[in-house]
Amino acid sequence: MSVNQSAPPVPPFEQPQPIYPGYHQSSYGGQPGSTALPTHYGAYNGPVPGYQQTPPQGVSRAPPSSGVPPASTASAPCGQAAYGQFSQGDVQNGPSSTVHLQRLPGSQQFGSPLAPVVSQPALLQPYGPPPTSGQVTAQLAGMQISGAVAPVPPPSGLGYGLPTPLASASGSFPNSGPYGPYPQGQALPRSQAQGPPGVLPPQRSAPPLASNFTSPASVGPRMPSMTGPLLPGQDFGGPPVSQPNHVSSTPSQALTPGTQITGHPGPLPPMHSPQQPGYQLQQNGSFGPARSPQANYGSPYPATPTFGSQPGPPQPLPPKRLDPDAIPSPIQVIEDDRNNRGSEPFVTGIRGQVPPLVTTNFLVKDQGNASPRYIRCTSYNIPCTSDMAKQAQVPLAAVIKPLASLPPEEASPYVVDHGESGPLRCNRCKAYMCPFMQFIEGGRRFQCCFCSCINDVPPQYFQHLDHTGKRVDTYDRPELSMGSYEFLATVDYCKNNKIPSPPAFIFMIDVSYNAIRTGLVKLLCEELKSLLDYLPREGGAEESAIRIGFVTYNKVLHFYNVKSSLAQPQMMVVSDVADMFVPLLDGFLVNINESRAVITSLLDQIPEMFSDTRETETVFAPVIQAGMEALKAAECSGKLFIFHTSLPIAEAPGKLKNRDDRKLINTDKEKTLFQPQTGAYQSLAKECVAQGCCVDLFLFPNQYVDVATLSVVPQLTGGSVYKYACFQVENDQERFLSDLRRDVQKVVGFDAVMRVRTSTGIRAVDFFGAFYMSNTTDVELAGLDGDKTVTVEFKHDDRLNEESGALLQCALLYTSCAGQRRLRIHNLALNCCTQLADLYRNCETDTLINYMAKFAYRGVLNSPVKTVRDTLITQCAQILACYRKNCASPSSAGQLILPECMKLLPVYLNCVLKSDILQPGAEVTTDDRAYVRQLVTSMDVAETNVFFYPRLLPLTKSPIENTTEPPAVRASEERLSNGDIYLLENGLNLFLWVGASVQQGVVQSLFNVSSFSQITSGLSVLPILDNPLSNKVRGLIDSLRAQRSRYMKLIVVKQEDKLEMLFKHFLVEDKSLSGGASYVDFLCHMHKEIRQLLS
Ligand SMILES: [Zn+2]
Repeated sequence: MSVNQSAPPVPPFEQPQPIYPGYHQSSYGGQPGSTALPTHYGAYNGPVPGYQQTPPQGVSRAPPSSGVPPASTASAPCGQAAYGQFSQGDVQNGPSSTVHLQRLPGSQQFGSPLAPVVSQPALLQPYGPPPTSGQVTAQLAGMQISGAVAPVPPPSGLGYGLPTPLASASGSFPNSGPYGPYPQGQALPRSQAQGPPGVLPPQRSAPPLASNFTSPASVGPRMPSMTGPLLPGQDFGGPPVSQPNHVSSTPSQALTPGTQITGHPGPLPPMHSPQQPGYQLQQNGSFGPARSPQANYGSPYPATPTFGSQPGPPQPLPPKRLDPDAIPSPIQVIEDDRNNRGSEPFVTGIRGQVPPLVTTNFLVKDQGNASPRYIRCTSYNIPCTSDMAKQAQVPLAAVIKPLASLPPEEASPYVVDHGESGPLRCNRCKAYMCPFMQFIEGGRRFQCCFCSCINDVPPQYFQHLDHTGKRVDTYDRPELSMGSYEFLATVDYCKNNKIPSPPAFIFMIDVSYNAIRTGLVKLLCEELKSLLDYLPREGGAEESAIRIGFVTYNKVLHFYNVKSSLAQPQMMVVSDVADMFVPLLDGFLVNINESRAVITSLLDQIPEMFSDTRETETVFAPVIQAGMEALKAAECSGKLFIFHTSLPIAEAPGKLKNRDDRKLINTDKEKTLFQPQTGAYQSLAKECVAQGCCVDLFLFPNQYVDVATLSVVPQLTGGSVYKYACFQVENDQERFLSDLRRDVQKVVGFDAVMRVRTSTGIRAVDFFGAFYMSNTTDVELAGLDGDKTVTVEFKHDDRLNEESGALLQCALLYTSCAGQRRLRIHNLALNCCTQLADLYRNCETDTLINYMAKFAYRGVLNSPVKTVRDTLITQCAQILACYRKNCASPSSAGQLILPECMKLLPVYLNCVLKSDILQPGAEVTTDDRAYVRQLVTSMDVAETNVFFYPRLLPLTKSPIENTTEPPAVRASEERLSNGDIYLLENGLNLFLWVGASVQQGVVQSLFNVSSFSQITSGLSVLPILDNPLSNKVRGLIDSLRAQRSRYMKLIVVKQEDKLEMLFKHFLVEDKSLSGGASYVDFLCHMHKEIRQLLS
């Protein structure tokens, strides 16, 4: 059994889709086609998938993909008991993250003494990078000199760099922001920048000394005998002062300081260019402009004598500065990939191909492997052995988005109908028929590519093989030639062996004082009247099959009978919230078209009915309970849309108290801020999952509402949380309504179970995302929409084979919007390697960061954030040190050498480390942190990419008639010109920054005022002016919003205005006020860590 290494002939699945007899055309994603349900399902002798795993028939050994879990998971309690672990802070039923945190003791993988640098050539031979290998070397000039300088303590806010073993090994970044205690309940969320100015942090404190860069300078020659951990005061690593010969030896190639070298063909020494396609190297493999060893090399920003944004006094012994232009630039990498890979379609026929970056626009042609829109991997070439994997420390993970929406040019997965017999599966491991299955014995049997079991081909599926051993109908069958497709599921795949009813949506509206006062209820009811015409439906359907119901609540719940035969809606009040029941069945869930008049009447009446309410208290758990019971009574799955304003303090199950305590930040108890304060919501979530009840929560808090607890049910049911702090209709209605419309209309799979099977040798061991697990293999999703991803980590349980590679199959069983039960299958084949260099050539840093962020964000539930940060830093250093040791060309220890495809790992990782979860600034509330933490858990790779490294777009640099998106600049203050305006976005926030010296004409064109001083700071809407600049900027804002899954509210920020503080938080290459390191500083720190590991 082996997987095709080359692209098979182009199958006849070119777009537009032809109609294949026997296949139901997919109606998913708006494609019209036959959606007729088979009238009956025949018996299927497979197990009831997902819900319980029955032993395969006639099988003597367990399939590898469902084998004995590792010790850490084998003991995990199942079923009910598994919920107990949530109280320990673990959302999923995988191995606890403590296990992960323990797996990375410093230097563990590097315990064996390393060969000294001089012997590296010999050592390197087996892994010598082939000519195509890319690697990046950075000469950290500042780290190589001034060994004589006494270590300078880092300035406040920059915790690493102390020459003590503790600091250098842990890389701690103590949070020592300049701000005092944050007034509880008076949070100014980042998204509410127009809020009261009084709560804003003061202006930036005085710039610290530039001494932050002198800590690396303390790196001196290491004593040869020093092998253990360093003692305080001891130096380590680093070549002697006389080392920097590779700086001064390259005068002939000196580039203009500040020139971006990445990707620019320049005058390069021929001896090195073959090594670095696409990435130009200087002599000695260092990149960046060569400079003479002077303190203040010419800089593109003459006013800034040193790098970074903090000019400082000259050092006693002038160290050479690391030029920010000389270190790997995310902008350049993104541009290069767009230029190199954006024009050709990505054809998935070849195993182990690394797809273009998520920031590149490209088309995908499915020729046997799932599109990267569905699955992205941290590496497309995985080590054959677990020893190699441990040595490299590169996490092996896949970020899977099973219901991802596709661009119109790409076809949705075909729906295959095998009729009564259902989909064909391996008898042993239950993997579904896929292109990697090998047909043998003239087509009468097939060997499973996952477990090697030989299976009989049922007579109705038999087909002859051609001379190459391929079935002659291969290209007529999606399941034999495509990476992604769907099967119609038979009744055996349905809960209780019953065809499911169409799902229902229940709108549950808080009508307490706050909700009424802000105008929320009126706005929402008005919107629902028209929005309900846009419920999701199957492609060809005239109307949505989804039924709807309404509940309002404060301390008690009000159910509404909106039966079409009624003249007026009827309200039923349930005040016994401790024992929630649904007071009516008939008339609660209705078809919108049948009951339109009654529903319209109800939506008109609700704001009036409660207009003079004085009730300020709310319940929350009983609301979810009621919605779930209603779905249960109607025997259907569905979604609750809950619109909620306050901490539920009314006497009821799930009652909460205000436990916000910012004093816990940076203590061992900080994790409790992320944990739910009661177990009641986990139990409720479990019931919801069993019912297929997904919960979407819209929060409108004026103060702390304990998002960590309120988001438990949405998180465990595959739902979404939206938060609009200090909601005001006039300022926030566009954002709220835009999110609501998208949320209500988006395609959702209900009552879903996802299973990832793998070929022998690796196994899915851990899962991250918004879902529930009651065993170690099945990801249960009450609902799953096209924005949600599930990240899966793999571990070796045996040796892999280079020839056969490694295979993944993700199977998602779900109920469609019309109530059809389906299986969506995604297959992906990866290469396997025996050389570490192959691993490092086929990694995807954006996906690595997605995994590492999720790993870290789960880690904070159990461990102090400092421990989590240290773990990330250590892992990153180990990844890069392993490359340096095994794959890089010999070079001076003073050089930082990064693998080409991981050259952005340090900058991106630093952004994760500086994020509000791991290093909160003073303006970030506990609720903000809990909110962002759960958002990131379900993000796809494109979303984490821009979230951690925001896009900064200059608006007046390119010609005004140029309507394409302007090229981004690096997220650093020194890239801002005060004569320009910029847009910055990270998927959640959107800023328009206006420089103080911007031309008056520009100000007039955009803001319709005559001078900079007249621009209203905090403005959230640009005036609609009919001039080219205004049209262009507003068009660009619309286009950025359209690219993101949540509406980004605009905030206009003026240079030197106090709101600028919020904006600067997103300039992630700079040092942050909360103590996060600048990119340059972090790179130096990472270099130090790597050298320590290697010495
Ligand atoms: Zn099998």
